[in-house]
Amino acid sequence: MANRMLQFVNLPQQTPQKRDATARRADFSEIYTDFDSSQARQQASRCSQCGVPFCQAHCPLHNNIPDWLKLTAEGRLEEAYEVSSATNNFPEICGRICPQDRLCEGNCVIEKGFESVTIGAVERFITDTAFARGWVRPPAPLAENGLSVGIVGAGPGGLAAAGQLRRQGYAVHVYDRYDRVGGLMIYGIPSFKLDKQIVQRRQLLLEQAGVVFHLNTEIGRDVTLDALRDRHVAVLLATGVYRAREIGGPGAGLPGIVKALDFLTASNRKVLGDTVAGFESGELDAAGRDVVVIGGGDTAMDCVRTAVRQGARAVRCLYRRDRANMPGSMREVKNAEEEGVEFLWLSAPEAFLGDAAVTGVRAVRMHLGLPDSSGRQSVEPVEGSHFTVPGTLVIKALGFDPEDLPAAFAEPALAVTRWGTLKVDHRTFMTGLPGVFAAGDIVRGASLVVWAIRDGRDAAAQMHAWIGQVAEQTAPVPQMAAE
Ligand code: FAD
Ligand code: SF4
Ligand code: SF4
Repeated sequence: MANRMLQFVNLPQQTPQKRDATARRADFSEIYTDFDSSQARQQASRCSQCGVPFCQAHCPLHNNIPDWLKLTAEGRLEEAYEVSSATNNFPEICGRICPQDRLCEGNCVIEKGFESVTIGAVERFITDTAFARGWVRPPAPLAENGLSVGIVGAGPGGLAAAGQLRRQGYAVHVYDRYDRVGGLMIYGIPSFKLDKQIVQRRQLLLEQAGVVFHLNTEIGRDVTLDALRDRHVAVLLATGVYRAREIGGPGAGLPGIVKALDFLTASNRKVLGDTVAGFESGELDAAGRDVVVIGGGDTAMDCVRTAVRQGARAVRCLYRRDRANMPGSMREVKNAEEEGVEFLWLSAPEAFLGDAAVTGVRAVRMHLGLPDSSGRQSVEPVEGSHFTVPGTLVIKALGFDPEDLPAAFAEPALAVTRWGTLKVDHRTFMTGLPGVFAAGDIVRGASLVVWAIRDGRDAAAQMHAWIGQVAEQTAPVPQMAAE
């Protein structure tokens, strides 16, 4: 059979089609259409099957990318799905929202000159096809092992661990303070990047496998960590980071200045059909307003694009560095520009104007100076370069820090780093409390879904190993508590 691979020389890169920007502005649906099977096969066949695949090395999950690309190119989709799902609990989610330009695709060797293989889109196609054809099965165990584990946090880190541990035969109980499963995948990331149903069908599979979700249950308030440790043989903390970084300056407390996650959560709830007080009152609704978003990360990009869809009059993004130095994904900046967002690069807020509520932001132009000790160029204000941006809704998107977990959990023995993230032994994922493990953003700081999945999988493996050791030393191990 002729070699189906190495087609990058003949076949140009083709990304999934994007919906027209005008149509995108009018709804919250995903913006990329699916590959059809012939596009997926063709695009997968562009891979040159590298002996040392840099794409795989730069995927946090070390996905076996060349193998599933080859299987897709050969039309062996069920096998491609088996290979792809062996290393990733949620490939269809990563295929949609990983910043591939910084990870797998950005390191594809054919990137230089021929443009990379569209790895993320093929990954998404494989698993969406697997769902459509009924190949995706709940992560149910072959046999129960009679032991129970508790997981705090139903974000990607907690859910990946839940799937792995359930497969091993544990009774898995996941606790979350929210009313829905998914963490930031449901209340942070907007549905135009990740349709909510994609997250919800994963919840259903976990439930079908026997994972029990205890929603509206905040650990530290409704149940103590101590009680959880009594209930379960081991506990995983995957609580994420939620304390918004603040901005000071004159007028910073004016009504109309809101936090990014409050804005995005309200919008996501609305999309999910909830009645949201802050939205009904208009406080968190951008319709008809001049919106200014402060920040240059992916959260800022999600805010500007959400504001556009809510019918804002104008949407501007203020970022103190330039386009090349922004932390957000270039793909998202391009999408935002197409949708009508105006970027004010090298601009920093100095004061917020208005009496009863904010009416504008006084900003100053910045220039990039010499690199500091971290290697990043410093930013300096340009004297006399002040200007005013109209803004009746100002959204602060400056990043997140962890909450004070030792205080919230009344567990001073939970050690934290100087950034407030939980300290764990990086080989075992265990905190200072025996049998209490931690994973995801709460350990790493604000990061990515794919890293939370990786950590959740690794932590689950370490929990299993630790429980085995305890069983050997102190048989019998505490049995599963009745729920
Ligand atoms: P989370 O997803 O934050 O989940 C933690 C869960 O713990 C939450 O459900 C929370 O309710 C629960 N919890 C917290 N405290 C308690 C408690 N005391 N008791 C019970 N439950 C508790 N990443 C990407 O890869 N691609 C993107 O496009 C992307 N976009 C993003 C957009 C936004 C707006 C934000 C904010 C983040 C984005 N990220 C993106 C980052 C990504 O969402 C996170 O890195 C990832 O969700 C972290 O997973 P996690 O499981 O550690 O925590
Ligand atoms: Fe690329 Fe993310 Fe998929 Fe890894 S998980 S192959 S980084 S899209
Ligand atoms: Fe294929 Fe690119 Fe990965 Fe090489 S780096 S194996 S060409 S996807």
